[in-house]
Amino acid sequence: MSIVRGEQGRLELGGIELAAVVRDTGVGTPAYVYDLTGIVAEAEALHRAFGGASHLVAYAVKANSAGPVIRALRRAGCGADVVSGAELALALECGVASDAILFSGVAKLDRELDAAIAAGPEGIGAIQIESVEEIVRVSARARAASRRARVSLRVNPAASLEALATHAHIATGHDDAKFGIAKADFSHALALVAASPDLELTGLSTHVGSQFTSTQAYIAAARTLFHLVAEVRPTYGSALRFVDTGGGFGVDYGTGCRVSPSDFVSEALAVQRSFGLDDLALYVEPGRALVAAHGVLVASVVQEKSTPHGAASGARRRWLMIDAGMNDLLRPALYQARHRIEAIDPVSGPMATSASWQVVGPVCESADDFGVHELPAAAPRLVAIRDAGAYGYTMASRYNGRALAAEVFVEAGRVVASRARALDAAWVRDRADLGVVDP
Ligand code: PLP
Repeated sequence: MSIVRGEQGRLELGGIELAAVVRDTGVGTPAYVYDLTGIVAEAEALHRAFGGASHLVAYAVKANSAGPVIRALRRAGCGADVVSGAELALALECGVASDAILFSGVAKLDRELDAAIAAGPEGIGAIQIESVEEIVRVSARARAASRRARVSLRVNPAASLEALATHAHIATGHDDAKFGIAKADFSHALALVAASPDLELTGLSTHVGSQFTSTQAYIAAARTLFHLVAEVRPTYGSALRFVDTGGGFGVDYGTGCRVSPSDFVSEALAVQRSFGLDDLALYVEPGRALVAAHGVLVASVVQEKSTPHGAASGARRRWLMIDAGMNDLLRPALYQARHRIEAIDPVSGPMATSASWQVVGPVCESADDFGVHELPAAAPRLVAIRDAGAYGYTMASRYNGRALAAEVFVEAGRVVASRARALDAAWVRDRADLGVVDP
């Protein structure tokens, strides 16, 4: 666990005091701070879960696309799962081998497909095809490039939303989702791929959602996938190298998570074996589970506010207004997610008495609200929003003219990279100059 309260009572991440990190780097707040050592330890634990089985941990870059994170995970033996041409270029730039890159997503542009087909000696590991229509497009792009494109077909197992048991916005493996090839269209899709001399079917995959706190839905989807693979392999599977059960391993945001990433892997491996498919490599695409717990968003308290609370006589609500908002960390507004918030300075003396604070950001939206938290009754100076290493900075925007947050990377207890918060002036220039015709 990389976030702890040290002996002096100060909050630490990766063995270094958060207040000192922000002060000494001078990056300003809000600032994301990440512990690369913790991230690498997650990857190593996951690799161990495979035992000797052939596998690829294709890190889902969308969760946290910072170069230091991708490079650290590459050094820890991970590949990458990307969902845009820009993420593909980034993974390659960070040294991820083209072979170890998967490209998922439903509306890949021709130029993005071209880049995937052109990468490395044989193109990327696999373009994950998400519709029958896309097969025709990938085939045409490969032909134009005079290359064979390595592809996998992503099946949508049509699970029910209830069975997926996660927030509807992050459930992808159901009938109403835009993702994947419907089971009913699967044989048609396979026949199309087989008929194309420009495509090589190297894998079959699924990804049914995110933040699963039990293995049930994940393993049910894996079972559906393995069943299909076993069925079609004699006819279409000569080039098959892998089966890919996707990402989605849940993390503990404070309310518990009964399972670890390794549980997903060991159960999936057992089911794979039971279908006699253990000669194929097992690919997984975790994002959140590798990075979420090893990042925090440090924010300064700007001011407090007290207002009458409901009709109860004399009751008042205490608002803690911080300089991080929904533009920095969208998850609470987008998914009603709750992140634990803690005071960074020692919680002792007058700070030891706690009070319920409604923690809100500066953005002009009522959704810019991080919920009610028990924090010192005397408003703290700095707070840490925990478990913000995944889907934090990558979802940030400049809404309300707010600068993007600073980022600091810690490894083995010391800062190895940092970037200050962007300047307001850069945003002003960018917006003001729009439409100005060059003289
Ligand atoms: N793979 C695909 C295709 C995805 O869309 C996602 C995210 O939604 C992931 C992997 C990573 O999911 P998670 O961060 O939950 O592991």
